[in-house]
Amino acid sequence: MGCAIAYFLASDPDFTGRILVLERDPTYEFASTTLSWGGIRQQFSTPENIRMAAFNIPFLKSAHETLAVDGEGPALSIREQGYLFLASAMGEGPLRAVHDLQIAEGATVEMLDPDQLARRFPWLNLDGIAAGSFGYENEGWLDPYALLQGFRAKARSLGVEFQVREVEAFERRGKSVVGVLLTNGERIGAGWVVNAAGWQAGALAATADIELPVEARKRMTYVFDCREDLGDMPLTIDPTGVGTRPEGRQHMGIVSPAAADDGPGTDFDLEYDLFEDVIWPTLAHRIPAFEAIKLSRAWAGMYDYNTFDQNAILGPHPEIDRILFCNGFSGHGIQQSPSAGRAVAEWLIHGAPRSLDLSAFSYDRIAENRPIYEAAIV
Ligand SMILES: Cc1cc2nc3c(=O)[nH]c(=O)nc-3n(C[C@H](O)[C@H](O)[C@H](O)COP(=O)(O)OP(=O)(O)OC[C@H]3O[C@@H](n4cnc5c(N)ncnc54)[C@H](O)[C@@H]3O)c2cc1C
Repeated sequence: MGCAIAYFLASDPDFTGRILVLERDPTYEFASTTLSWGGIRQQFSTPENIRMAAFNIPFLKSAHETLAVDGEGPALSIREQGYLFLASAMGEGPLRAVHDLQIAEGATVEMLDPDQLARRFPWLNLDGIAAGSFGYENEGWLDPYALLQGFRAKARSLGVEFQVREVEAFERRGKSVVGVLLTNGERIGAGWVVNAAGWQAGALAATADIELPVEARKRMTYVFDCREDLGDMPLTIDPTGVGTRPEGRQHMGIVSPAAADDGPGTDFDLEYDLFEDVIWPTLAHRIPAFEAIKLSRAWAGMYDYNTFDQNAILGPHPEIDRILFCNGFSGHGIQQSPSAGRAVAEWLIHGAPRSLDLSAFSYDRIAENRPIYEAAIV
C-alpha cells in the first residue's frame, strides 16, 4: 500500500510535495503482501468493492507497461483462470442475490447450476452443492511480490525517497499528527502522515492514541502435489470456506477460521493440524483427485484484519488532522492496492478521492458504528 500510494502521488502532475516511504524491513519477509495468495476478483457483495475491482483489474493487466522503468516492467504473471464460489442449498439464495448486484455493476461472472458445474469442472464432487458463481474473466491471481516491487521501482524512478527506518510512534500534537518518531531516536516532521503499516497498523495508530481496529490474524498456506492434472482450474472456494488454487504444477490450500475462533496472530510458527483435520479432508471430499496428495511445504502469514467489519479503512480521521489511513484490507488488499493507492493520493492532493467515491470506507463508519457487511470474505 505504501508503495502504491507513493506511485500514484508521484505520478500525479498536481502533486508538488516530497514523499518519503519508511520501511523497517526492505526484504518484506513478514509483510502480508509477500505472504499473500494474490487473488484478484470482481466477486464482492459491496458495490464499492466491485467498483474498485473495475479499476484494479485493468490497471493490473497493464501494469507491465504502466509501471515500466527504462522499458522494463514488472512481470506480474497474471493467471486469469477465474474464481469459483460454491454454495450449498442454504447459501444459494445469498449467492444469487450477490450475483445480480455484480451483473448490475458490470462484472463478468456467471451462475452455474450443478449440471453446468459438472460439465465445466469435471474434477469437482458436487455432493451438497446447489450452485456456483464463476468469474470467467478478470479473475484469478498474480505474483504479489512482483506487484510490490513494480510499484516501488516506479515510485523511486519518479523521485520518491525510501529509507530503511522503523517508526516507533506517530508524533501527535493536540488534534494533529505532525510527524513520526523513529526507533533510532530521530524525528521526522511531515505535512501529512499515511498509516500503511499493514497488520501492525492498529498498534502504530495507538501510539498517537488513535483507535484503529486493525490486528494481525494468522493464516496458514499449505502447498501440495497432486498426481492428476486438473487443467486450468480456478481459485475455488468450498461452501465451508476452504479455498484452493493451483500454483504452477502444485496446489495450495487455505481457510479462515470462524470469527469467534480467530484470535490475534502472535507468531509465524507452522501448524499442521489445520491441514490434517480441516483443509485436506474438505478438499479431498470436494476434489477427489486430492485424496492422494503430498504436502510439500507450508507458510504462515498475517491478514491485516479489520476487526470492525473486515473491509478497508481509507482516508482521514474525523477528529485528528494530518493523518490518513490505508488499512484493514483483511485478505483483499493486494488486488485493491491500485484503487486504494489512487484514492489516498487524491485525498492528499485534492482533499477527497475524485476518480471513485470511496467514502463508504472512511473512518467515519467506525466512529458512527456503521459496519459494511461484505459477504464475499475469504
Ligand atoms: C495468506 C494470505 C493470503 C492473502 N490472499 C490475498 C488474496 O488472494 N488477494 C488479495 O487481494 N489479498 C490477499 N491477502 C491480503 C493482502 O496480502 C494484504 O491485504 C495486503 O498485502 C496489505 O498490504 P499492506 O501494504 O497494507 O501491508 P504489508 O504488505 O504487511 O506491508 C506493511 C509494511 O509496513 C511495514 N511496517 C509495519 N510497521 C512498521 C513500522 N513501525 N515502521 C516501519 N515499517 C513498518 C512492514 O514491514 C511491511 O513491509 C492475503 C494475505 C495473506 C496473509
